[in-house]
Amino acid sequence: MSLAFRSGRRPILAGNWKMNLERKSALGLAAAVRERVGERDDVEVALFPPFVYLDEVARLLSGAKVKVGAQNCCDEASGAFTGEISAAMLVDVGCDWVILGHSERRHLYGEGDALVGAKVKAALVAGLKPIVCVGETLAEREGKSTEQVVSRQLSAALAGVSRLDLARLVVAYDPVGAIGTGKTATPDQAGEVHRYLRGVLGGLHDMEVAKSMRILYGGSVKPDNVRDLMQVADIDGCLVGGASLKSESFLPLLEFR
Ligand code: PEP
Repeated sequence: MSLAFRSGRRPILAGNWKMNLERKSALGLAAAVRERVGERDDVEVALFPPFVYLDEVARLLSGAKVKVGAQNCCDEASGAFTGEISAAMLVDVGCDWVILGHSERRHLYGEGDALVGAKVKAALVAGLKPIVCVGETLAEREGKSTEQVVSRQLSAALAGVSRLDLARLVVAYDPVGAIGTGKTATPDQAGEVHRYLRGVLGGLHDMEVAKSMRILYGGSVKPDNVRDLMQVADIDGCLVGGASLKSESFLPLLEFR
């Protein structure tokens, strides 16, 4: 049994497909994950397909242990917001989860802390479980401002979120320099930031709720490094990009114990 599970926090394996796959490969991959996960309930598995495949993937996974989430949502409930998708629409097509504040949204599309915070609130109101991403850039790490950056991002995203709602929320630490680069943070580096983030959560509310919350690591997680990362006491699962796109690289991650 992993340390993460001994902590009472059920590990999560989340596959963020980003803007990849097409209908046939998306459904094939979801079916393979469903089959491998079967009735396992020692790990929570969630897949995050592009918006247009959510409905079909959610239907395919209906009744299965594998859950579905979106990679983003709008901070508004409805109205004249061309190209946007509301949190309620995601619930309507069978989503349980939504990723918010991913560094690609922050850095490529200019999503700031306040917008991420508004999206978190909209997602919670609609009944979704947000995975809130935080993470410093390489320059920020080298400038020794990791803690300042992740603390600012987390505090802004969680401002005004009640203690009760925190139970539905998961944090993901995604150091930008590790995403899609193969340069995974070492278990020690990741563990240090996870411990720090749990302290920030404790400061925002209290340590009891902070200890119950799951903090995922994301950044070039692969079958050959997942075990070492998951041994770290404060790492409660992984947010996986590249390796989640193929069953050959995603399914072995389930054997992280
Ligand atoms: C991510 O996008 O959150 C991510 C961790 O990607 P990758 O696994 O490809 O580094």
